[in-house]
Formats: sequence, C-alpha cells, structure tokens
Amino acid sequence: MNRVRAAASQLAGLVPYDPKYLPAEALLSANENPRDVDDEVRELIAAAIARVPFNRYPDPLANDLRDLIAEANGLDRSCVLVGNGGDELLFNLALAWGGPGRTCLNFPPTFSVYAANARLTNTAVVDIARRDDFSIDEEAAFARLAEGDIDYVIVASPNNPTGLRAPADFLERLLDATDALVMVDEAYFEFSRQTVRPLLATHENLVILRTFSKAFSLAGVRLGYILANPGVIAEFQKVRQPYSVDAVSQAIGEVVYRHRARFEPGIREIIEERARVMEALRATAGVRPFPSDSNWILLRMDDAGAAWDYLYAGGVLVRDFSATPLLENCLRVTIGTPVQNDLFISLLRAFVAERGERRARAARA
Ligand SMILES: *Cc1c(COP(=O)(O)O)cnc(C)c1O
Repeated sequence: MNRVRAAASQLAGLVPYDPKYLPAEALLSANENPRDVDDEVRELIAAAIARVPFNRYPDPLANDLRDLIAEANGLDRSCVLVGNGGDELLFNLALAWGGPGRTCLNFPPTFSVYAANARLTNTAVVDIARRDDFSIDEEAAFARLAEGDIDYVIVASPNNPTGLRAPADFLERLLDATDALVMVDEAYFEFSRQTVRPLLATHENLVILRTFSKAFSLAGVRLGYILANPGVIAEFQKVRQPYSVDAVSQAIGEVVYRHRARFEPGIREIIEERARVMEALRATAGVRPFPSDSNWILLRMDDAGAAWDYLYAGGVLVRDFSATPLLENCLRVTIGTPVQNDLFISLLRAFVAERGERRARAARA
C-alpha cells in the first residue's frame, strides 16, 4: 500500500474529543436536560418535519428561527446567527478571530473545546488559571490584556465545569478594557437567570453564545446561536459552512423556541433540585461541593476515581475530572430528575460510609 504523508502539524498529539458516554440507568454526565421534549411538542415537531422538502437545500441562515430568536431578545435579525450546536459557533470564533500569529485568552479550568479550537486553528492560547475557589484572577486578566496582543477572550458564565457565573461587573469592565472580541458563553444562562445581553447596546466587542442543548432538551438536534452586533455577525458569516444547520433542525428549533415557556417548570425543578442535592452533598462527610448557578454540581473528594467506579456500578454515570489539571479529585454531576438525584446521593453516601469502615478496619489491624 502507498504511504500517506503526515496530517497538519497542529494535529500531532491531539486526542479526538471523547464525551465518555456509557450506558447507565441515570445519565448524569453531560449536563443534558433529564426530561425530553413533551409529547405535545413532539407531535408539533413531527408535523413540521412532515412539511420539510428534503430535496431542497435549507435556508443557509435559518432566517425564520433567527427572527424568532431576534424578536425574543429585542434585537434585529442581523444581530443573530444560528449554528450547528454552540460548538460550531465556538469553532467559527477561532476561525474568524484566531489563526496563526493571533492569541486568545482563556481561564482554565473551563470548557476544553475552547483550547482545542485554538490549537486546530494555530491560535496561541494564554491561560490565566482560576483561583482555588475557581473565581477568575481579575487582576491578572487585566494586566495581560493591557499588553494589547489578545485577539479574543472566552468567558463561560456559568463556567463549565466549575459552576458559578462570572460577576456582571467584571464582564463589563473586561469589555471596557479591551478591543478584543469577548465571547461570553451563556450555554447555561436559563439556569443562572443572568445575561450580559443589555451590554450589546454599548459594546461592539461582545458576542454571547447560547444553545438549545441544555434547557431546551435538544442536545441530540444540534442548534446553538450567537447574539452580537451586525459587524461581528458578518465576520462569523464569512467562515461558517453555508448549510451547517439542516432543514430538519431548523423546523425542530422553530417549534421548540415558540413553545419555550413549556420548559420553564422543568428548569425551575432543576434549580430546586440543585439546592436539594447541594444540601445533601454539604451534609456528606469528606465531600466538598462547589456552589453552582447551572444544572450541575462539581464536587471534590478523596478517592474520586474509586467513587466514580462505585457510582457507575450502581447505575449512575457522572463525569470524572479527577485526571484533569486543576480539577484533581473532582467529579461533576448533572442535576437529573428527583429519582435520579436520590439514587446518586444514596450511592455516594454508601461509598463514603463503606470507605470509612474500610479505613477503620485498616487502622485497627
Ligand atoms: C454544552 C455547552 C455548549 C454548547 O453545546 P452544543 O451542544 O454544541 O450547543 C457551549 N459551551 C459550554 C460551556 C457547554 O457546556
């Protein structure tokens, strides 16, 4: 067989993204909504899909969905762009504002996709590590920005996987301090109930990312969007794949967005369950949960890897970050249904109790 020359050099050593999905009774690893869209919405979706002409290319810009999103946010269509999941728009950010000789500012530990996209596009990454409580080192961020070479900044708010949103006054000062494009990733803003959207009126360098994957139960469909001023949207349009948002996804997104009020009780339940799970974790010896504005809780404990195994053996899949830099001994659990959350809490407590007995026996021996 003929040999093949090496792929692009920036791919050397890169590991493909692996969500580490495994079948389990309670899937609490990917920050998905535990409830699928309800039956009535599902029927409306089926009717909408039945009307989609499959032989025709979709509207490249998903203008009907774009108009719905624009109207709900009090913006013009030219301030909205829909993508194949938020992930596509994150990649487009690196294509449009990154590249060889350009630099982005990142605040790890955070969503790993940001750094991966920078690497793929040969964008230099400047990391400013978060403090021990996972807050942003604001002084270090402003000092680095003052050097003037940062082309774009990404701040997840709430930050995945640590949980809290960025302070609103910090985001505003950040936007004021630089002409770099600042992406505020609000993938979970329905759970934090906070947005920097009003700052679009005064800051040309702001772009906000949202998704249908979390609060709106559409992780399987792949729809996300950005809000920004028209000049920024125009640059994103230059790099996007023309037909990345297929006609079926557009039809589903329109139905779900029109009926988004129906997701409100589910969102409220997740927020209430988050408080209940947080209390239970705080009452569990040796477990340190970090406060959360989102639909998951990050926790730190000894033997987190063994705890992951124990939870999985009991039917609960959580996300293991114990081998991730700055997240040693951390697990992230998505808030599920009350039944799923109870199962998670009882398994974690059983693990801690059994480990305590093992340690006591070892001490006596
Ligand atoms: C889930 C998520 C997204 C977007 O996900 P998509 O499914 O691609 O829309 C973006 N940012 C963060 C931090 C996320 O957790």
